Amino acid sequence: MDVAIRLAVIPGDGIGPEVVREVLPLLEWARGRGRELTWEIHPWGATHFLATGKILPEDAFIELRDQTDGILFGAVGDPRVPDGRHAEGLLLRLRRDLELTVNERPCRPILDAHLPLKGVRAAEVAIEVFRENTEGPYCLKGTTEPHRATDLAEHTEPAVRRLLEAAFARAAERGCSLTLAHKANVLKHGHGLWLRMFQELRAAFHQVPARGLHADALLCALVQDPRPFGVIAADNYLGDLISDLLAAFQGGMGVAPSLSWAPHRPFRCAALAEPVHGSAPDLAGCGTANPTGMYLSAALLFRHLGWIAEAESVASAVATALRQGAATADLGGTLSTREMGAAIRAHLPA
Ligand code: ATP
Repeated sequence: MDVAIRLAVIPGDGIGPEVVREVLPLLEWARGRGRELTWEIHPWGATHFLATGKILPEDAFIELRDQTDGILFGAVGDPRVPDGRHAEGLLLRLRRDLELTVNERPCRPILDAHLPLKGVRAAEVAIEVFRENTEGPYCLKGTTEPHRATDLAEHTEPAVRRLLEAAFARAAERGCSLTLAHKANVLKHGHGLWLRMFQELRAAFHQVPARGLHADALLCALVQDPRPFGVIAADNYLGDLISDLLAAFQGGMGVAPSLSWAPHRPFRCAALAEPVHGSAPDLAGCGTANPTGMYLSAALLFRHLGWIAEAESVASAVATALRQGAATADLGGTLSTREMGAAIRAHLPA
């Protein structure tokens, strides 16, 4: 008997609504295959904030937390809210208060032509970044004073341990290596804690080839040859930078997916799928944004829900569409967002 799943859909800002609209038919498709699935579309984002003054009211947050199984999120960020306060109260709050510690960002390039590296084939690259999602310099604690500004980077043992355990477990499951990106040589306190916990866990996961690398050296090594890398663990800030570099190995920002999840499942809602890209205000309303990252993010959410066949079907539909030349402008093509969505869906099994 299939478990009834309830999802929340938050299209958000900029190109978010355009790419989310393209994956809604995926939910219909999963339902057509017998999955017991319902979803609700929520208005949270800059336009709603500017019209009502509301970002994410407490009762709405509690309902998301306790009465849904996951969230499909488009993007947040709007030039009309220059201090980004609605992004802080919406996306960063969901990540933090749902304790979505792990932000998993896979890099599995599909076309050789998308990989801007000499002598490396797409099929040879299979990297997953496990980025801590709730702390570090993105914990938004800091001050601006006259002639002085400070950002605090807070790292706590529970979150770092959860992230590293999940990263080690994935590397063990895949039989691949784990690399910790850090700068403990200068960030002695915060990254010192990361290194200590990494060394502790290395003993428990002795079958995983694991090493720490200074993040700057890691970036250099990734561009020279990404093939030896399997799972990369990093704090919020470094993980953000590394995964944007890896987006470039997949064809660009429009292609890269992500899933934020809570390995310890403190609440019913334990996952949020969103593309790696942001709201791309330069493209908003043009109908040309690439929905591929959103599709692959939905596939990650399906996998999280245990819908493995559906997750694989979506990933394979994306791969087939790209191999057959479907491309929006960012990939050198001429398809609109809607046409790209249709080109992917055409390869889904009935
Ligand atoms: P954030 O800080 O929220 O991650 P950002 O400032 O890094 O956002 P993005 O919104 O991710 O910026 O976009 C950077 C650029 O990448 C955009 O200006 C756009 O040109 C391109 N881009 C992003 N997403 C897409 C997409 N889905 N399709 C095509 N191009 C995209």
